[in-house]
Amino acid sequence: MTKPLRTLIVEDSEDDAELLLRELRHGGYDPAHARVETPEAMSAELSAHTWDIVFADYTMPHFNAFDALALMRNTGLDLPFIIVSGTIGEDRAVVAMKAGAHDYILKGNLKRLVPAVERELRDAAVRRKHRQDEETIRKLAYTDPVTELPNRARFIEYIREAVAVGLREHHPVALLLMDIDRFKDVNNTLGYVSGDTLLRQVGARLRSALSGHELVARLGCDEFGILLPRLASADDLEQFVKKTQNILEAPFMIDEIPIAVEASIGAALWPDHADEETLLQRADIAMYRSKQMMSGYAVYAPEYNSYSSERLSLMAELRDAIDRGQLLLHFQPKVEIATGRIVGTEALVRWQHPRLGLLMPDKFITICENTGLMDPLTRWVLSDALNHCQGARREGIRLRISVNFSARSLHDKHLPEVIENMLKITGAEPGRLTMEITESAIMLDPKRAEENLATLSRMGIYLSIDDFGTGYTSLANLKRLPVNEIKIDKSFVTNMLNDKNDAMIVRSVIDIGHTFGIRVVAEGVETKEIFDALAALGCDEAQGYYISRPQACEQLKKWFTASIWKLPSAS
Ligand code: C2E
Ligand code: CA
Ligand code: CA
Repeated sequence: MTKPLRTLIVEDSEDDAELLLRELRHGGYDPAHARVETPEAMSAELSAHTWDIVFADYTMPHFNAFDALALMRNTGLDLPFIIVSGTIGEDRAVVAMKAGAHDYILKGNLKRLVPAVERELRDAAVRRKHRQDEETIRKLAYTDPVTELPNRARFIEYIREAVAVGLREHHPVALLLMDIDRFKDVNNTLGYVSGDTLLRQVGARLRSALSGHELVARLGCDEFGILLPRLASADDLEQFVKKTQNILEAPFMIDEIPIAVEASIGAALWPDHADEETLLQRADIAMYRSKQMMSGYAVYAPEYNSYSSERLSLMAELRDAIDRGQLLLHFQPKVEIATGRIVGTEALVRWQHPRLGLLMPDKFITICENTGLMDPLTRWVLSDALNHCQGARREGIRLRISVNFSARSLHDKHLPEVIENMLKITGAEPGRLTMEITESAIMLDPKRAEENLATLSRMGIYLSIDDFGTGYTSLANLKRLPVNEIKIDKSFVTNMLNDKNDAMIVRSVIDIGHTFGIRVVAEGVETKEIFDALAALGCDEAQGYYISRPQACEQLKKWFTASIWKLPSAS
């Protein structure tokens, strides 16, 4: 059986083209071809038809392979590109490959042609698959499945883009946050299916209020964000808010029951109230204020900040918590799926608060980030984690330890030094330590992050991308960064058996990781069914309640001896 091959030949000699085609036919291909010898003709062919492969003569009177390659690249195509030449020195060949040609073949040695074609077609198919995976992840990870509006991750990118445009074109950007009052009542009385229907309808109405560049996203449970990137004046904002309130006035029909919706809206303006990073948070404060005042709408004002007084007092106490020994670590094991071996644990910080009891990190990590307490916290966690790791080692348990790093510490230029010292003091080997960093932390300042990560990787430390799939790390980034591991975010894993989008993301991430030789860890593995499904997909490691909840060191030791999972021996 012959294989069809849509072949574009850039070649001034009819005879040479014929020789090439003959070789392809010998190799079992049935080439449908066109021959071109000018840039214009090549452009026309590339845009008029779909091609599988391009061959280009090295030099022609009015055209050459380099220009042909550049021309193909400029059209955005990524086809196998093979240079065919009567004369080409090795050095020129290297230059050609560097410029992006996939192979070069001498006209006098055409027997290399068919194997090269086969290989390049295979590679091109892999590249195509990657692009599709990437596109799938991007699309799914950026869309809220219930309303099909952009989600929080995408919204945050829009904010960034809008502020960049605002800076360039000198106009303010407004951000509105809207939260449906008593949405929980709807969910509780009518069920979550009706709740979802309501959210969809609210989303659709909000969208109908928008024009041009404006954008609405669903940010969380009953929270929507609206971005007005080209605001002319504060009056415009008022008018927009009125329009939005009007649009929501007519009751929503859910299961033939009319439901009246009231919303609280908070607004903040860039650059008047906030910079790009704090815009969302300031709008949140304004929304909170409008809820408290039951006013339906509030614009941010600095004095509203004090409304989060609970946060303020926590902040003050947190400063002392480290010194007073109120922080502690819980550890959650990670298991190698194929063997059932426990390969490591993740250190998760807790705060034993004297009044409020055991606080989870979501209560205090962001406070740390906003107050410069992140560095001392990270140092404490790192040293305690490494000490535990060494302690276990002395008892004959050899495990890797994963530590979470926030964006802030990642961009601290002293970080490699701090870690190096910590390793020295505790005597732990760098290869035992895994740093978990989120995608968004890297994207904040990719260059600085890249430098730090390269240094740390050279020191022998493992790097893991946490919450993978929730932001958008391109393949190019993964390739550039010295990444050893990616962790699929638990939001995808937890639902993968019920939601085919989530299942698709999980599968794509595993595929992408493996083509780059990166270990893939699934977090949030809550059931045996999910564990088995991950095993079938070839996922490397699992972490989650199915295996064990995070536990204090003493409990974990007991768990080790009682558990069905195997402990590696120290050696
Ligand atoms: P993370 O790094 O994604 O950590 C995993 C979180 O998922 C932990 O929450 C863990 O208890 C929880 N989890 C584990 N298995 C399951 C499961 O099967 N189902 C569900 N639903 N959840 C599961 P935790 O301990 O509350 O930590 C929350 C976040 O706080 C962490 O998310 C991490 O981003 C941050 N964090 C924790 N410790 C530190 C730290 O020392 N430094 C920094 N910078 N951040 C930390
Ligand atoms: Ca983590
Ligand atoms: Ca995570």
